[in-house]
Amino acid sequence: MHDVIVIGAGPAGNMAALRLAEAGLDVAVLDWRADIGDKLCTGIIGRECAAKFPPDPAYVYRAANAAAIVSPSGRRYRVAKSEPQAYIVDRVAYVNSFAVKAREAGAHYLLEHRVTSLDIRKDGAGIVATFNGREKTLKAKMLVIAGGFGSPLLRMAGLSSGKPEDYMIGCQAVVDAPELHETEVFVGEKIVPNSFGWIVPLKEGKALVGMAPRKQVGGHMDILLETLKSKGVVKSVIGQTQTWGIPIRPLPKTYGTRALVVGDSAGLVKPTTGGGIYYALLSGELAAQTIAEAFEADNFSSRQLARYEKAWKGVFGRELRVGYYARLLFETLNDKQLESLLEEFLSEGVLNEVMNAPDFSFDWHSNVILKVLRHTNMRKVIRSFGPAVAPFAARLLRTRA
Ligand SMILES: Cc1cc2nc3c(=O)[nH]c(=O)nc-3n(C[C@H](O)[C@H](O)[C@H](O)COP(=O)(O)OP(=O)(O)OC[C@H]3O[C@@H](n4cnc5c(N)ncnc54)[C@H](O)[C@@H]3O)c2cc1C
Repeated sequence: MHDVIVIGAGPAGNMAALRLAEAGLDVAVLDWRADIGDKLCTGIIGRECAAKFPPDPAYVYRAANAAAIVSPSGRRYRVAKSEPQAYIVDRVAYVNSFAVKAREAGAHYLLEHRVTSLDIRKDGAGIVATFNGREKTLKAKMLVIAGGFGSPLLRMAGLSSGKPEDYMIGCQAVVDAPELHETEVFVGEKIVPNSFGWIVPLKEGKALVGMAPRKQVGGHMDILLETLKSKGVVKSVIGQTQTWGIPIRPLPKTYGTRALVVGDSAGLVKPTTGGGIYYALLSGELAAQTIAEAFEADNFSSRQLARYEKAWKGVFGRELRVGYYARLLFETLNDKQLESLLEEFLSEGVLNEVMNAPDFSFDWHSNVILKVLRHTNMRKVIRSFGPAVAPFAARLLRTRA
């Protein structure tokens, strides 16, 4: 019998395992992958994530001070700051580094083990995993569900109807782009309706081209790749385009008797950008803290474990709420409206007051969103968009700054 079984060795599961093992608990981590952290991702982390959970410098491909936003008509707006705002990291190495530390702290890792069922009772919890075609049963006092997007285990734990609350489809390909040095973000109906696409430089002339449409990729990825090829930015595409879901709304309940849900499984992702590494790490840490308290109190009831949800809501609940309504607002805009929004948003006046303000943060951007919406010039532009935008703008403007 283990103290805690963690299902999934992504950033959320590894961080939970690390902190639990550091607290002296007996932890087993299961993942069906052979290579920890090897799931579809661009690997961008914000400055604060990098400060709180520092990547080994060897895993950092680039520090990013600037990025360009390309409007539907092809107009290019470059936004630059004097200090790096984000880091492009080797995601696999970064995520694995937390597993290495968790192992050093005493956590047991069982790779190539796929958890197929859960059994949660008042007096204990169990899982069944398959390894090499054989079934294994493991028991623990607590479970951490860290299986990432759309995990069927949530339904077994009684915490989801089986469908993610709301999501985007992340889609990405590795390309050769030797002349690219800065990230570019693309918006517009032709590129990706209701969302955005990107090209992000890695190292040695490689880059990632991707997009995060709502629910269907269609032929949009081919259009983006062809556009970038025709401009000479992309020389060739390496390998296949891959897709994976990105949740953009939290589960209604992220705890239950003897179980907590962390990271993507809980829907803890920035709804604006689809970035989830930081919240996965934070939620893993908060879950470990709640579990350590549950062991101290010898109480694994849903009531005791509710403090985990209170904790993550206190740290980034507002970010998720504001980000979600900002995304819904953005999704109502047509290309013409996007052009005028970008023109105003990236005008010197707004940039100076918002982006160049000392409290600007890539990781905590709800304040930036609210400041932009409250800016006199932006309010005028948004009002001119008419009734489709109004409910989301009103909802955001009601949020306290
Ligand atoms: C195209 C794309 C680009 C992205 N880019 C970024 C980015 O640049 N920056 C950013 O912050 N976020 C990005 N994200 C989101 C980010 O990858 C996730 O938010 C983050 O990985 C979530 O971590 P997690 O630990 O919750 O889940 P995951 O990283 O998905 O890890 C879950 C783990 O659980 C394992 N697992 C699942 N089910 C089982 C099972 N039944 N048994 C055993 N093991 C199981 C999986 O193998 C996996 O290793 C991107 C996502 C996509 C799709």
